[in-house]
Amino acid sequence: MKTLRTHTLGFPRMGAHRELKFALEKHWRGEIGEAALEQVGADLRQAHWQAQADAGLGFVTVGDFAYYDHVANHIQLLGCEPTRFGFAGTESELSRYFSMARGVTGKAQHSGCCASHAHGFALEMTKWFDTNYHYLVPEFSSTTEFKLASTRLFDEVAEAQALGHPVKAVLLGPLSFLYLGKEKEAGLDRLSLLDALLPVYEYILTRLKQQGVTWVQVDEPILGLDLPADWRNAFERSYWQLARSAPQILLATYFSPLEDNLRLACQLPVAGLHVDAVRAPHELVGVADWLPAHKVLSVGIVDGRNIWRTDVDAALKRLRPVADKHRGELWLAPSCSLLHVPFSLQAETLLDAEIQSWMAFAIEKLDELLVLSAALGGDTASVTAELQAARHAIAARRASPRVHRADVALRIARAVDSDDKRQSAFPQRQRLQRARFALPPLPTTTIGSFPQTPAIRAARAAFKRGALGEADYRQKMEAEITLAVREQEALGIDVLVHGEAERNDMVEYFGEQLDGFAFTENGWVQSYGSRCVKPPVIYGDVARPRAMTVAWTAFAQSLTTKPVKGMLTGPITLLQWSFVRDDQPRSATTEQIAWAIRDEVVDLESAGIGIVQIDEPAIREGLPLRRAGWKPYLAQATRAFRISASGVADDTQIHTHMCYSEFNDILSEIAAMDADVITIETSRSDMELLRGFGDFQYPNEIGPGVYDIHSPRVPTQDEILRLMRKAVAVVPRENLWINPDCGLKTRGWPETRAALASMVGAAKVLREEL
Ligand code: GLN
Ligand code: ZN
Repeated sequence: MKTLRTHTLGFPRMGAHRELKFALEKHWRGEIGEAALEQVGADLRQAHWQAQADAGLGFVTVGDFAYYDHVANHIQLLGCEPTRFGFAGTESELSRYFSMARGVTGKAQHSGCCASHAHGFALEMTKWFDTNYHYLVPEFSSTTEFKLASTRLFDEVAEAQALGHPVKAVLLGPLSFLYLGKEKEAGLDRLSLLDALLPVYEYILTRLKQQGVTWVQVDEPILGLDLPADWRNAFERSYWQLARSAPQILLATYFSPLEDNLRLACQLPVAGLHVDAVRAPHELVGVADWLPAHKVLSVGIVDGRNIWRTDVDAALKRLRPVADKHRGELWLAPSCSLLHVPFSLQAETLLDAEIQSWMAFAIEKLDELLVLSAALGGDTASVTAELQAARHAIAARRASPRVHRADVALRIARAVDSDDKRQSAFPQRQRLQRARFALPPLPTTTIGSFPQTPAIRAARAAFKRGALGEADYRQKMEAEITLAVREQEALGIDVLVHGEAERNDMVEYFGEQLDGFAFTENGWVQSYGSRCVKPPVIYGDVARPRAMTVAWTAFAQSLTTKPVKGMLTGPITLLQWSFVRDDQPRSATTEQIAWAIRDEVVDLESAGIGIVQIDEPAIREGLPLRRAGWKPYLAQATRAFRISASGVADDTQIHTHMCYSEFNDILSEIAAMDADVITIETSRSDMELLRGFGDFQYPNEIGPGVYDIHSPRVPTQDEILRLMRKAVAVVPRENLWINPDCGLKTRGWPETRAALASMVGAAKVLREEL
């Protein structure tokens, strides 16, 4: 039998109980020093390596740990900290690291002054491929130099070796590192920096080899993207150069199919290739065909992006032909780093036992590798019990009436094409809505939430704990709603909201009330830095047992003669920010959610609510990594939105809201959502985002955000006027609304009041002028 090994591309950093988060935050508050923080880091690494050793992995993975982000680690490793931070060189490595990650206070607050000053504002943060993890974006200019500038990686290797572990080190590859960065100089081609970067990688690899490291995993996830030709072409020469000095390199790809890069990836001069067999199972045979027999094939067979148990029989069925075909070594691994899943199910004490039995977090996924490798190697006897448990769980999940509901299936089956269409086209609806609401030109509104004061949070928490009774809780929330309505009336806002006091989070609030969603106690996943999120788990068919928002919204409407806008989260966002089912396409789950939301919209309408907003801030982040997938995704996403929005009469006005994102390349799909009004975040781009809507002649109404809600700074009336004048220049004014960029829940009341007063004042001035 051929050699089989197991390994992982990376492991969660936070610790079983988010020890890293708490230590980081203590350090940032000045409560613990660097040495104490480093000790927490060392303890976590030790525990995580031990878990890998206990699971019988062939190596422990070193270099995946980071105090904030692994890309930021590489900025220090490769000696390319941006000069704008003006480090004197006397600061410690860790303090420079946190300055880059979090900004330098004192230097960072600079609103109003020009952007060219050297400021210590934090590195930009952006999403790591299609995950909810954010990395710090390296900055490049033509004067960027690279040199080995940190020994952290080598120190950690030595640390693992001293603990007696066989080590596989991991590096982000040179091409991905450059590709994921950003040029800070017009006209600079980041690829032109490659020649300066490669010698540093060579040096790092040589040093790892000297330390006795036999395998280095070099991650090049950009091989799963539609790469420009010059980037593709740079791979071969880069890896020839690295091969000279290197220990054996395992080139790691993940998150999407290799497609046109498949042959390239197979033929690079490296000792092994890792592929994501969860996202691209159909490529596995092709990879086995193309990969030379002397190379290691690492198959990412356990889903590193989701929390479900592996279907062992399906996995073995997929692996066997590959094992037969590929004559070299075969390694089994999670599809990608386990960074994107929670630590362990052992910390779940309240989760429904049956649902929990269907799941596997990072620790459990390591065990799955062992079972798969034993079974594939023919040693089923040693894992009989585990195999049986795994098979039993898969069979139970597949047959569970909690997962598959006839009523939900029937509803979807009965859907007809026209279910995603409003009764009339927009111009007709617009006429009816104008007659019904008689709003002034440039109507003012907000995005939904009002300040979540400590009192609100305390009341919600007490209610959840059972310390506050239902009636008392309702009374408290109604008092908050009353306050929000009175404030909005006093400000003179035209379309009011109830303020969302009862909502902890725009996904959790709905997930908790919908069938098919479950919540973990400790299923934390790193989002950025010390920030973790605990996504809901969609495990079964989604249905709405009862109205979710009608009582609060109707209560708000009962207080005022102005229209109150109902507030819902849309199907794509509910899906995107959850762990989703892997036993049916994402589109099928989205459609189920869409029907549940539609019911809520219809119930709001019946309760006398004439305007309903369905938030979809996550539409863009659901885009597949490969362009070819965009069209089908957007078609089903916009259909899901329209299903949720189309159960109402023409004179009910549907709004949607999306936060900061590029819209220009998806404008026709945004228009295809056919919301009567869309509100977007535009102030940070100085209304530039709106220009695209204007050029495109976006047909429906639009509310460009007129101030940044992320800062406590109060905008002046003149600033808002300036932005709105820009807006009026690009979009027909009869289609324009005035609103903030996003919800106000993170703000305090004094600044909120002042900012909205500026906004309403600006609207008045403009109405006079126009
Ligand atoms: N309605 C939500 C709010 O106002 C929207 C939040 C969001 O777009 N992220 O908070
Ligand atoms: Zn928003």
